[in-house]
Amino acid sequence: MPNATPKATSPIGKIVCSTFGHRFIETQKITNNISEYRCTCCGDEVSESLNGNLQPLTPKIKDINSCLSSFFEKKTRRVYSEVS
Ligand SMILES: [Zn+2]
Repeated sequence: MPNATPKATSPIGKIVCSTFGHRFIETQKITNNISEYRCTCCGDEVSESLNGNLQPLTPKIKDINSCLSSFFEKKTRRVYSEVS
């Protein structure tokens, strides 16, 4: 096969993932308990939900995560400044 590396949303990747499972890497940390992940094989994106399950990363979830992320950042910063 000439120079064909599995890229995001590759159909071959999808087949491999449905057979062997996804290979997720953390792409963004939202809070201590919630992160976003992307599959290195097929490019699927998921996010941890508040109850710890993985859910597909839809635009709506991305919105919620960015709100959570900025809220969490502010909260963390405030805690640090209170401590020091
Ligand atoms: Zn995958």
